[in-house]
Amino acid sequence: MNNPAPSRRKFLKGALAAAGVTYISSRTGFARQAQPASPASPHEKLAQFRYREVKLTGGPLKDQFDRVHKAYLTLNEDQLLKVFRQRAHLPAPGEDMGGWYDAEAFAPGHSFGQYVSGLSRYYDATGDEATRAKVKRLVEGYTATVDTDGYGYASLKASTTFPAYMLDKNLIGLLDAYQFGDVPSALDTAQRVLRGSLRYLPPRALERDEDPRQMPYDESYTLPENFFYAYELTKDRQFFDLANQYLMDRTFFEPLARGQNVLAGLHAYSHVNAQSSAARAYLHVGNPMHLDAIRNTWEMLEKTQEFASGGWGPNETFVVPGKGLLGESIDTSRAHFETPCGAYAHFKLGRYLLRFTGDARYGDGIERVLYNTVLGAKDPKGDGYFFYYSDYHPSTQKGYHPDKWPCCSGTLPQAVVDYLINIYFRSSDGLYVNLFVPSEVTWDLQGAPAKLIQTTSYPESDSSELKLELPSPADFTVFVRIPGWLQAPAQLSVNGKPISVPAEPHTFAAIRRQWRNNDTVQVKLPFTFRTEPVDELHPQLVALMRGPVMLVALTPEIKLPTRAVAQGELKLTSHATPSFELQTPQDRVRFVPFYTVKDEIYTTYVVSA
Ligand SMILES: [Zn+2]
Repeated sequence: MNNPAPSRRKFLKGALAAAGVTYISSRTGFARQAQPASPASPHEKLAQFRYREVKLTGGPLKDQFDRVHKAYLTLNEDQLLKVFRQRAHLPAPGEDMGGWYDAEAFAPGHSFGQYVSGLSRYYDATGDEATRAKVKRLVEGYTATVDTDGYGYASLKASTTFPAYMLDKNLIGLLDAYQFGDVPSALDTAQRVLRGSLRYLPPRALERDEDPRQMPYDESYTLPENFFYAYELTKDRQFFDLANQYLMDRTFFEPLARGQNVLAGLHAYSHVNAQSSAARAYLHVGNPMHLDAIRNTWEMLEKTQEFASGGWGPNETFVVPGKGLLGESIDTSRAHFETPCGAYAHFKLGRYLLRFTGDARYGDGIERVLYNTVLGAKDPKGDGYFFYYSDYHPSTQKGYHPDKWPCCSGTLPQAVVDYLINIYFRSSDGLYVNLFVPSEVTWDLQGAPAKLIQTTSYPESDSSELKLELPSPADFTVFVRIPGWLQAPAQLSVNGKPISVPAEPHTFAAIRRQWRNNDTVQVKLPFTFRTEPVDELHPQLVALMRGPVMLVALTPEIKLPTRAVAQGELKLTSHATPSFELQTPQDRVRFVPFYTVKDEIYTTYVVSA
């Protein structure tokens, strides 16, 4: 053979280099400086791709991805910087932001760093020059307000009521601006602000109500994630030590690791977000306790906290398991899932678990939350109003949070740009297809670019085609996630010919062969309808699912004949916007995916008959 296939070792080499590389994202000429690559963590089975290596090419995810990008490009920079400039006694033109954001408001300047973070990731993803320029102006504008002692809060109120929360969000903005936004100076600002904030922090991570001297809503238990991130980029041991100092091990991660469900009653989003701190600790320190903690947390979420959408935490609080509280919340609450924040934290946790274990169930969870929560978020309204709660109350409508610039305005762009890094993963011996999305991924195969192009209209259709563009034939494995919700066998073909490989639900099917240019893989994951009860004490209160998608009824107060559902008597009425009709004894009922609902009145949980 005059064109020998590269060995799997070669795939491994490329994968590991990409997994651990710290790079300066210099878009100008794409002169990616080969920074000394930190070795990939030995704890990772799978590695994440970079934003720029994945492209969305169509479908509802891309539509939202583009709309959100555009919305955040229009943020007024003077307004965003105003609180910081006022505090630094600099000229501060522009209107006040209003809502949560102003100097004496609920959370002064809280989301600034998250907007910078989201835009930085969007720059890495798109290479859009206007995005880079905006990130640079925001970081430089902010840096000009930081005191010589590193004080970088928006106001005295910010540093005394939310010292940890504000530092956490400022840090992610500055570190992402350095890592993804092509703003080298952001790293210096990040280090100054981190050091300048330490005197405001409690000596260790505190629970929300643990110390009366601490303001009740601060979240010092989420700090280690970004302290580890600062350590990764600077190699400064002080940040590594600080990260370990703020791990809430004794009261949170250790009991979770022992399988003790200590979630009930806790603030939901921030305690899922805190799982990323344990995950980052496992990546760097390797204590199996932290891996056990995050695995068990995921399991507890799935078994005791999640609605059919994958969302959790009615009224932003974890429920006591086994008491039927999710079911009760359907009628008593309209705040069922804090959507952009919760999805952002859920994706991060799911990706860490995928990376550490390679277990497909975490891909299932990412898929469920993506299609049924944040993809259904209303677009930013343009004047500071944002979608916040998914509401599963009967006969309801999607709406906006009553206050301008809430926390979810900060996590929305982060969660949506992160769609890119949820889709594909790589390992020592191949490429993992985790989500079925019209998209492309590019990687390095023996020094030449290789590409996988995915064509699909999933989740409106139940099939997808993967096409490989390779510089030369190569031996590796294409891993395809076989979802846990499947009720009929998955069908896999290569170049149109059915293949027989194990393809059990909850696993990745491994298609190992010598791949050639233009080889294709056809994936069919037959969709069926099924119902899922809200909890074990309310078996009659169900949501209707089709494959990964949660459908909601556009006709209120219906009884759902579950036998008809099981017999597949729902009829597809429209392909353009998927819509299904069911003839019930009383009425014809129309169901649509939650993510397609705009201003219609909808009902998520219906009574099965
Ligand atoms: Zn939020």
